[in-house]
Amino acid sequence: MGDTDAAATADCLFCRIVAGDIPGDIVHVTERTVAFRDVNPQAPTHVLVVPREHYPNAAALAAGDPQASAELLSTAAAVAAAEGHDDYRLVFNTGPSSGQTVFHTHLHLLAGRSMTWPPG
Ligand code: 5GP
Ligand code: ZN
Repeated sequence: MGDTDAAATADCLFCRIVAGDIPGDIVHVTERTVAFRDVNPQAPTHVLVVPREHYPNAAALAAGDPQASAELLSTAAAVAAAEGHDDYRLVFNTGPSSGQTVFHTHLHLLAGRSMTWPPG
């Protein structure tokens, strides 16, 4: 079960975007997910796909709600297709040293430019 405690989610930026309390440029919604554009895009298409329920990272979501976990991937694929991209990158940062700054699970969809590997 997600952490739906009101005190925890009131402070969570992505819970507030999901709830409509603060604006997000929403591009796709499903029963369990919401997809919106990243405010600081790192590619021509940079969309964040989040579960409606609060989980701190991808592993916690996979353990707590496997169906929502799968729906993040299918939503990202649907958004990529809708924006005309066959090639794209999906990223889950997990933990501060990986670059995670928002502790509500989010899948980054990046597309529309050539990318290098490994990422920085
Ligand atoms: P992380 O670094 O945790 O993997 O990704 C967090 C992402 O959230 C960053 O790419 C950042 O640009 C984005 N972000 C931070 N604040 C906001 C916001 O208020 N609105 C939107 N749409 N994206 C945000
Ligand atoms: Zn949250």
